[in-house]
Amino acid sequence: MGNLNSLITIFTGGHIMRKRLHLSPFGAIAILSALLLATAGFTPAAKAQSDSQDKVCKQYEFAMGLRYQQKSAEIDALQHQAFNLARMKLDSKIAAHDGDEKLAIVTDVDETLIDNSPLLVRDMRNCHTFTTWDTWGHWEREGVPTLNPGAKAFLDHVDRKGVAIFYVSNRFGANKPDTIRTLQDLGLPQVSKDSVMLWSEGNPKTKRRAKVRENHKIVLLLGDTLADFSGMFEGSLQEQCTAVQENAAKFGTDWIVFPNATYGDWTEAELEGWDAPMKIAE
Ligand SMILES: [Mg+2]
Repeated sequence: MGNLNSLITIFTGGHIMRKRLHLSPFGAIAILSALLLATAGFTPAAKAQSDSQDKVCKQYEFAMGLRYQQKSAEIDALQHQAFNLARMKLDSKIAAHDGDEKLAIVTDVDETLIDNSPLLVRDMRNCHTFTTWDTWGHWEREGVPTLNPGAKAFLDHVDRKGVAIFYVSNRFGANKPDTIRTLQDLGLPQVSKDSVMLWSEGNPKTKRRAKVRENHKIVLLLGDTLADFSGMFEGSLQEQCTAVQENAAKFGTDWIVFPNATYGDWTEAELEGWDAPMKIAE
């Protein structure tokens, strides 16, 4: 087996070295494999660049929304804003309450209290459409989501005020012990098998909220999806927009909405554009 003259280009800390080596074919393959493996351990900056440059599949349509959700400072600010507003409204509702009825808040979990974007980014990079929800079970059991800014401080405040907290989420009921453990690990208050009310067949959020209302007055609902607030938002996108108009006064008072640019009923909607011809650099 003869030797192979190979011109190897090596990137080292921003420097480029070119070396001509006398190698057997196996040696050349081994070195090239090692270089490929080394470059596979890219820096975060290099990985971010690959997301913007290698749109290899349609799932990369989600990239900009995911970037906004995971990386923008505006998302953090909006989440703080929502929790600050929720706190003000809760305090005023407690002050106005003069009956014996027990007070409660109902909060959604995903993209309201916690951030699941690492799962969504992983799926996008694997060209898997995460809105089919067939990777969520694994994430619920083994994933490590993080708290949204302001979530724990707000819920601790609710707890100190003696108001009941119900976590009404469409996470899988079959993974309830895992979701309870996740919420407890994040240090959230009042997490129990009674307060955590998850999805199961024939038990939509409207029914779970009705269950809470059997013994409590719900003073505040928190969510990133309109169906977190009322069954009137379970229709078409157009019907949802109409219902938003008709209930405008409830947003920021009874219903606190959180931003989610990564998934929702809107992801398949057709965009509308200005129909004027393009005039560039006039
Ligand atoms: Mg949610």
